Amino acid sequence: MTEPLVARMRAFGTTIFAEMSALAAETGSINLGQGFPDTDGPAAMLDRAVQAITAGANQYPPGPGILELRRAISEHRSAHYDLSYDPAGEILVTVGATEAIASAVLALCEPGDEVIAFEPYYDSYAASIALAQARLVAVTMRPVEGRFTFDPDELRAAVTPRTRVILVNSPHNPTGTVFTRAELEAIAELCQERGLIAVTDEVYEHLTFDGVEHIPLATLPGMRERTVMISSAGKTFSVTGWKTGWICAPPTLVTAVQTVKQFLTFTSSAPWQLAVAYGLRHELEWVSALRAGLQDKRDRLMEGLAAAGFSVLRPSGTYFVQTDIRPLGFTDGLELTRRLPELAGVVAIPTQVFYDHADRGRHFVRFAFCKKDEVIDEAVTRLKHLST
Ligand SMILES: *Cc1c(COP(=O)(O)O)cnc(C)c1O
Repeated sequence: MTEPLVARMRAFGTTIFAEMSALAAETGSINLGQGFPDTDGPAAMLDRAVQAITAGANQYPPGPGILELRRAISEHRSAHYDLSYDPAGEILVTVGATEAIASAVLALCEPGDEVIAFEPYYDSYAASIALAQARLVAVTMRPVEGRFTFDPDELRAAVTPRTRVILVNSPHNPTGTVFTRAELEAIAELCQERGLIAVTDEVYEHLTFDGVEHIPLATLPGMRERTVMISSAGKTFSVTGWKTGWICAPPTLVTAVQTVKQFLTFTSSAPWQLAVAYGLRHELEWVSALRAGLQDKRDRLMEGLAAAGFSVLRPSGTYFVQTDIRPLGFTDGLELTRRLPELAGVVAIPTQVFYDHADRGRHFVRFAFCKKDEVIDEAVTRLKHLST
């Protein structure tokens, strides 16, 4: 048989996460590669999911999502961001942020349209854009004074008459950058000048550190009307396996995205929706504690990585820390991460796989810190062997 997979998906064979997690399992290494927490979400919210199942929330929920959850999302947006979204028509519950991103790109882009994303970028972006037969145009983020940022002139130069969407991920995975108001203003100005739609991946909206607050792009003047704002309960409540997310946007954009979403999955699982509604209403203190705990874990891992000889970049949000491997005498992160299990019994992710211009990320390696303290400590102890 000839290659059954369509040409546009052939570059997406196996993800680096599958390769590195398999390597971790084979070698008994500590896996600081894939970014999922190794502790559970709030207990009462987990109970609420169990109750929802036993109470019979087991048939198709409404296409846009269960009203109770859409109401809880709407109340949370107002309380937290002073953004008003109508539960009827401006909120759509999705199968995680992943489906929200895919549905948005498929709904908004014609073949040949261009989508701007900041590289290094989350891996599902390129695949969704390829499925839509659109083209990803990557604007590179580079470390400036210890923090990854972009050059507004480079961003401006990336816009062409074919540009349709700009994908904005803040807090940014994998660099840990939380965009400043000035950075967001540069994006907002361009969106308005050039008539672009912003699709904002805000899955780490609550996971920021050192008092840095996440600013949704939709809160900037003139942006609510042209922004599809995406969230994930998986990241907010440490339930990544629940695959429950949502978009907030004006009615025409929600209708467009829902038109695609309804034929990908029709609707999203009912029990999790009821539990997440409970979480948004009753568990935000738990989220604050998660954020404080993650900040300590970040510091713990950063200190250990620095002691092991890495040059470490301080993230202001997310689960991830970027390191520059050159002080250890390495230049290629892919080569190092493939050897890291044998050298130190640890698995990490080579940041270069998140770039179109892989050269620009060659010397960076990403470590996840959403892990138990003892796991981080053991990883750090093992990594000390690298420099000896
Ligand atoms: C985890 C993650 C997602 C996917 O979220 P789900 O709700 O699990 O689908 C999307 N974007 C970024 C940047 C992520 O880190």
